[in-house]
Amino acid sequence: MSSPRELFLFDSEQLHALAAADTVRQGLAWFKENRVTGVSQEESHLWAEVEDANGELFGNEVWFDADGEMHIQCACGADTQHVCAHVIAALYAHASHSGEQALLGATETAIEWRVKRGRTEVKVEPVGDTVWFGAWKAGSITTDKHFTHSYRVNIRSLTQRSNHCTCPDFATNQLGTCKHIEGVLHKISKRRDYSKLKKQSAPLSYVYLNWDAPQPPVITLQRTSEMDEGLRSLCVGYFDEAGLFKQPLPDGFFRFAAVVQDRVDLDVGEDAQGYARRLAERASQQLRAQDIRAQIEASSGHLPGIKAKLYPYQVAGVAFLAANGRALLADDMRFG
Ligand SMILES: [Zn+2]
Ligand SMILES: [Zn+2]
Repeated sequence: MSSPRELFLFDSEQLHALAAADTVRQGLAWFKENRVTGVSQEESHLWAEVEDANGELFGNEVWFDADGEMHIQCACGADTQHVCAHVIAALYAHASHSGEQALLGATETAIEWRVKRGRTEVKVEPVGDTVWFGAWKAGSITTDKHFTHSYRVNIRSLTQRSNHCTCPDFATNQLGTCKHIEGVLHKISKRRDYSKLKKQSAPLSYVYLNWDAPQPPVITLQRTSEMDEGLRSLCVGYFDEAGLFKQPLPDGFFRFAAVVQDRVDLDVGEDAQGYARRLAERASQQLRAQDIRAQIEASSGHLPGIKAKLYPYQVAGVAFLAANGRALLADDMRFG
């Protein structure tokens, strides 16, 4: 049994198990806007009040009963089965009072870090006459005020993490953002007409790799309200109502890409294309490895041209090496 203080220290993963991603996001936003007051704990009870966007206060309580079961109640009517953003905000506040940065989770911390870097370290400029939607160029500010490496940023939304950057950080961090994207968003946010821009929907429907889905990444379609009927019906077999790709990958995606390749009213993002390509590469490597492994096994562990016999654990390694063309095999030395 953990100490009472630790009872309510949920990490990001646990919070996402409690409530839908949107609710967790809203709760985190309210916590960050200092809307949580009166956090108090007595043994296995935690109380807090959370102010919503209209200034209304909602008291809530989270407690554990004698059997260790958790219960939740909020003045908004939420309960254990339907956890609200007030409770999530309270849990974030409790964790931060306890000096527990871990709750803010690797993801939130990592995004915050990039937002800060984006404001101070990145120089951006639009490509062409882009106001916000479309291509930007971004690079790190250096002492001689020139772009060192510059990357291509594709802005699709000012409010969702559905943008793309060609930098190596974006390619690997799985956050759906990077300092370049944050730098561009920051620049756009300084425009006088920003609040108007923020309400605009994208001028073009687009397909992107969604890192903000419950089980990321998911190839996702963002439809505009004025989406052409013809395009709509082309997409309907491939994406569900929420815009999530529903056919088997990667083949389904390649079929879709072929079907829409001449559409000028749909942007199929290079992030989505690259993801499908990587899946295809991985699948073909696996097939080749299986094939080579079968060949070695069929010759009872003998490699052509090599006298020594391979041990079973070596067969898999050799097959992997052969299939990948070039690879670093990091088996423990003595297994040589
Ligand atoms: Zn509530
Ligand atoms: Zn980047």
